[in-house]
Amino acid sequence: MLPSPDFSSSGEATSRAEPRLRFDVLTLFPSLFDSFVSESLIGRAVEAGRIAIHRWNIRDWARGRHQQVDDRPFGGGPGMVLMAPPVVEAVEAVRALDPEPGWLIALTPRGRRLDQQRVAQLAEQRRLILICGRYEGFDERIFEILRPELVSIGDYILSGGEVPAMVLIEAVSRLVPGVLGHEQSAQDESFDQTGSLEYPHYTRPREYRGLHVPEVLLGGDHAAIAAWRRSRRQLPPNPDTAVGPLADCSPHRNERPPIHAKPSA
Ligand code: SAM
Repeated sequence: MLPSPDFSSSGEATSRAEPRLRFDVLTLFPSLFDSFVSESLIGRAVEAGRIAIHRWNIRDWARGRHQQVDDRPFGGGPGMVLMAPPVVEAVEAVRALDPEPGWLIALTPRGRRLDQQRVAQLAEQRRLILICGRYEGFDERIFEILRPELVSIGDYILSGGEVPAMVLIEAVSRLVPGVLGHEQSAQDESFDQTGSLEYPHYTRPREYRGLHVPEVLLGGDHAAIAAWRRSRRQLPPNPDTAVGPLADCSPHRNERPPIHAKPSA
């Protein structure tokens, strides 16, 4: 029998209109998403019915008394591998729950690195189904059978796909109409259509520890403010390769703290 979705903390209200974007997350640790789906921006978007987030425990599709979902790798080697049958069958069952088949994504360091351009394309979808890996990763036949898009959130290794799934959900949801309070907010950010970084922001106080807010921002000349901000956006997106204006406007971006060698014992 198909397990029922975890509506308790997804917060989806049945009385509201269809959410603009539905996420189905397949994971071995659904409760890792508890506060993520109920608090802050995502919590409010769920509450308002803009998005829906359903969590599914892959283990519910495991066979046998022990509900095994992982096993040792053929050919030897360390760790365990996520087995194909529970994952494939979970995806098939969850997919069939909605007439919209959705776009399937597996979170894996092998995937293409997520960027804002891809985020914007994903935000056009009506339904995204996300598979979170664990252990050493997925049995390859999961990819061969389901043909998901493989998505990485960066060139480093985490213990599971849950944090990457949250990264993707949050980045995508911000672009769903009505999720951000101010529609302009998403258009005026780093990595927008210009591909550049955001201009610096200031708020009160006007002076702090001898550092003053740039005069142009205080004068109320909107054209001058827009020009100043444009000039401050002429920055390459990668701080590691930044030269010129970036060094002037925010030197701290350009510096990585040195890693000191451990003092010998
Ligand atoms: N053995 C795998 C490798 O070398 O590529 C790493 C497996 S990792 C410990 C376990 C799971 O965490 C992955 O299957 C994936 O779902 C998730 N994961 C870890 N790092 C990730 C990243 N940078 N992007 C997306 N998912 C990641």
